[in-house]
Amino acid sequence: MIPYLDLKAQYHSIKAEIDAAIAAVLESSQFVLGKEVAAFEEEFASYSGGGQAIGVNSGTSALHLALLAAGIGRGDEVITTPFTFVATIAAIHYAGAVPVLVDIDPVSYTLDPGLVETAITPRTKAILPVHLYGQPADMDPILEIARRHGLLVIEDAAQAHGAEYNGRRVGSLADMACFSFYPGKNLGAYGEGGAVVTGNPEFANTIRKLRNWGESRRYSHELPGYNYRMEGMQGAVLRVKLRHLERWTAGRRAIAAYYTDRLKECCVTPQQMPYAMHVYHVYAIRMPHRDAVAQNLNAAGVQVGIHYPIPVHLQQAYRDPRYQEGHFPVAETVARQVLSLPLYPEMDRRQMETVCDAVAEQARLLAAETSPAASSAQP
Ligand SMILES: *Cc1c(COP(=O)(O)O)cnc(C)c1O
Repeated sequence: MIPYLDLKAQYHSIKAEIDAAIAAVLESSQFVLGKEVAAFEEEFASYSGGGQAIGVNSGTSALHLALLAAGIGRGDEVITTPFTFVATIAAIHYAGAVPVLVDIDPVSYTLDPGLVETAITPRTKAILPVHLYGQPADMDPILEIARRHGLLVIEDAAQAHGAEYNGRRVGSLADMACFSFYPGKNLGAYGEGGAVVTGNPEFANTIRKLRNWGESRRYSHELPGYNYRMEGMQGAVLRVKLRHLERWTAGRRAIAAYYTDRLKECCVTPQQMPYAMHVYHVYAIRMPHRDAVAQNLNAAGVQVGIHYPIPVHLQQAYRDPRYQEGHFPVAETVARQVLSLPLYPEMDRRQMETVCDAVAEQARLLAAETSPAASSAQP
């Protein structure tokens, strides 16, 4: 069986470093925030192109606090994509604001900048593009629209550690960027974790207070805050793993290049846009009869995923009378067809070949079913 992800293989490749880092946290007893988290914040900020990083307890909390620091609240509108993990939308609701959705680009699957302007109203406060699958959204036109309308731009970079837009790292492209260190992300903690990266010291100060009960000094609460602190253990683990991230990203990109080379004739493979350095958090192909293909691949021992089968506007929890089925045709079509292949840096050549053989076989079966000879045999 080829797993979708193999976190154990990664742990074994860096076991000595990780075990020592965790033992050091146990000895220091700095279990929440502390010097490992502070050091990680500095290292991750400098990795992400400068500014400050504020470590929190999840990517969702990072989004929530970025929105609050931006002053976004009740009645405000935030423009984002329907084709994302629900956390993007949930965070906007946590802030009391209203998500306003626009459809995605049919090639990159990220927010279509050509549709953003028509969604702007007097209540719009921010644009929240998602760097989906590890590929940056098309930021220049988004930033240009934001500048013209006086809006903030917050990157959802939860899937895109180290990705680049026109040679610049995500995290330093807009007003703030939110990262997740959920274990399966490209840079994953051994538990939950997240961070906001920003070059704006005022936003950074507010987020530092909000994550820790709104404290300025101990037991002096300046703002109504949250318990969103990063754990010391996660800071220590992330410091170790950040040192390996460039190598892992190169590994992901090499596997993606191999997949694309082998599969481009038999299905729609991901496109790295001309402005992008894609870090392939997800390698999603598109196939007709996706659910049946996914089932067959899983049965053949190739574990696949679907990111995401239901766009946000069709999720029961986030129903909005403004958005019906058919409203976002690109997102809806893509959601019906995408299929994520196993991809982790520790994969070996034989596993990569097995994945491609299995996908090619599914494509062959589909082609045979729809060929004239096959269809004339059906009544
Ligand atoms: C993972 C993810 C989040 C949420 O991060 P958590 O750490 O799981 O809270 C937000 N947005 C996107 C696009 C994600 O993939």
